[in-house]
Amino acid sequence: MTGRQTLHSSVVDLPGVGSKLETTLNRLGIYKIQDLLFHLPFRYLDQTRLTPIGALQAGREYLIEGTVELCQIQFGRRRQLVCRISDGTGAILVRLFHFSRVQQDALTRGTFIRCWGAPRPNKGLMEMIHPEYRILPREQLGLTESTLTPVYPTTDGLAQTRLRKFTGLALDLLGDRSEDPLDLLPRELLDDHELPDLPSALWYVHRPPPQAEVSLLLNGIHPAQRRLAFEELLAHQLSLKSLRNRFLHVRAPTIASDRTNLACFVQDLPFRLTAAQCRVLEEILRDLRRPTPMLRLVQGDVGSGKTVLAAIAALMACISGYQAAYMAPTELLAEQHYANICRLLDSSAIPVIYLSGSLTRKLRNAALERMRDSTPAVIIGTHALFQEDVAFGRLGLVIIDEQHRFGVAQRLALFEKGVAENRCPHQLIMTATPIPRTLMMTAFADLDLSIIDEMPPGRSPVRTVALSNERRNEVIERIAAICGQGQQAYWVCTLIEGSENLQAQAAEETREFLTGMLPSHRVGLIHGRMQAREKDKIMHAYTAGKLDVLVATTVIEVGVDVPTASLMVIENAERLGLSQLHQLRGRVGRGVQESHCVLLYQPPLSETARCRLEIMRATNDGFEIANKDMELRGPGEILGLRQTGLPAMRVANLERDFELLPRVQTAADYLIAEYPEATNALINRWLPQRQIYSSV
Ligand code: ADP
Ligand code: MG
Repeated sequence: MTGRQTLHSSVVDLPGVGSKLETTLNRLGIYKIQDLLFHLPFRYLDQTRLTPIGALQAGREYLIEGTVELCQIQFGRRRQLVCRISDGTGAILVRLFHFSRVQQDALTRGTFIRCWGAPRPNKGLMEMIHPEYRILPREQLGLTESTLTPVYPTTDGLAQTRLRKFTGLALDLLGDRSEDPLDLLPRELLDDHELPDLPSALWYVHRPPPQAEVSLLLNGIHPAQRRLAFEELLAHQLSLKSLRNRFLHVRAPTIASDRTNLACFVQDLPFRLTAAQCRVLEEILRDLRRPTPMLRLVQGDVGSGKTVLAAIAALMACISGYQAAYMAPTELLAEQHYANICRLLDSSAIPVIYLSGSLTRKLRNAALERMRDSTPAVIIGTHALFQEDVAFGRLGLVIIDEQHRFGVAQRLALFEKGVAENRCPHQLIMTATPIPRTLMMTAFADLDLSIIDEMPPGRSPVRTVALSNERRNEVIERIAAICGQGQQAYWVCTLIEGSENLQAQAAEETREFLTGMLPSHRVGLIHGRMQAREKDKIMHAYTAGKLDVLVATTVIEVGVDVPTASLMVIENAERLGLSQLHQLRGRVGRGVQESHCVLLYQPPLSETARCRLEIMRATNDGFEIANKDMELRGPGEILGLRQTGLPAMRVANLERDFELLPRVQTAADYLIAEYPEATNALINRWLPQRQIYSSV
């Protein structure tokens, strides 16, 4: 190199990198020379030692060196170049199926060659198929690598050897181990956490010494890798804290707790709030009174009674003169919330507006008109609520149901939409999915958490059985029996293919089948391909008891509430994850009668599927199920990191590194207080802005 580049230069400044290669490197997330240092190997080759050819054994890779004794083209089933190489201890054949004239000419008798590959026996002689090889000048004989050789994730058009050369150049720029121009973590922090400094960690990971403990490296738990994982988690933590800080520096409307109206509202409810609901309600009301935006996640199992809390928060906002927006993940749920909130706020004289994607233009315009005007109202809808042409006159509170479909990026988009003149509405986020601690500490670190850890009294637990498909007829008899007693059943069709059309088709067939089997009962159908109005009609008929059986796709997964439904049949239950099964099962057990859930499966069951069905049979406790789910799938999978909007990690792995998290949190607070200038640099290094702040 010319010596003018720095780690902050673009990769085009590297020798041999033109615009084509630059694009290729960009595809790997490598823009600056510095980024090469954070592009880490996933495997290593030990080319530090030569093995005598006579000592080779099949089954692993070796580095060998020898003289070409013979080289010729063989015409067998495939044309190939075969070389015999010997080193005095034995001989081996090297076979190349793809070779050029130049290669052929270079491998003449007497040439010194070094090969890396896995030998295998063939008719009494060892052979290597397509080893990596290099022709050696005599003076390099016996000179092997001084470090382990890294293998990097790469992409078409970028050979390992090139990538190794580039990371080597970046390491040279990083310089001596004692200097740390790149290290953003202060010395005392490294000492406190017994972490190596950044240059040593990077050198070690890219070029481990011959005696390195490769098994630690391969498992990603070597101190050098821990140091990098720590820093990456720290950067994520800082970015969420900075998001949180943006909220702290804007103002929110102060929403008073109107105790008189609150008491009336609670009095009129057909039930008494549980202690857990009361506690969470107070947490919400306290946030609403503050002049900074609430950012609260309320987590409560299905049926724990979150809707009524949302209604109270909305009521308080309206009484204080603001609008409240209530956003649901699907049309079906939005409609149901609309019906519920209308009923709950019936005596309050507060207008409830429904903004659906399927309204006629005229009705939609009328709704939009009312929203723009600043009279207090509760506005209910799907994410259509936050589309371009929607404007709120006086938005004070946003309620988001089923958080897991709204990740960090969506929260930010909402924030941008809500912020006007440095003001921002309060945000109340509801989820039935228990959030593992690791995710709470990462993907949701910008939120406060409230947990409704108690179910309303009088619910009898749902009894669950797993039955093989052959026993389908027994299940149908069971449906006939309960429907005869005025109860209702769900039959959920699941299909592994994501296509809505195929799902709808399968559900249609099941409806026909069940109609045939249950001639004296009324079987309805609901699926995602239906018009909202049609879905609405079906749901109303089912809620009103005009249908006995509802065949559905997983559209009913969240939130639907029909207390007289007491039997849930889930087809192909073996294909679903625990959380989804739990959500579906939560549709029954909402009334006074005993409820049942039948998990139909197609044998043979895989070990994990058997495990999942057994867990479902054994417990109704959402927290326990979430914990088991985490054991079976790992925390990242529970909500799906993609859904949380958290960008993928490069080095850290939440399952493996979760015990670093408490220390990462402390370190984040320390850095913000003592070294604020380091925080942005860290965020930029690990999370280029466009990733986390891109809209979805
Ligand atoms: P989720 O938390 O799943 O959204 P919902 O808010 O839909 O639960 O409540 C489920 C059902 O329980 C509703 O029919 C609701 O009216 C009822 N409910 C809510 N709170 C209580 C309570 N404290 N006691 C009895 N029933 C309640
Ligand atoms: Mg709900």
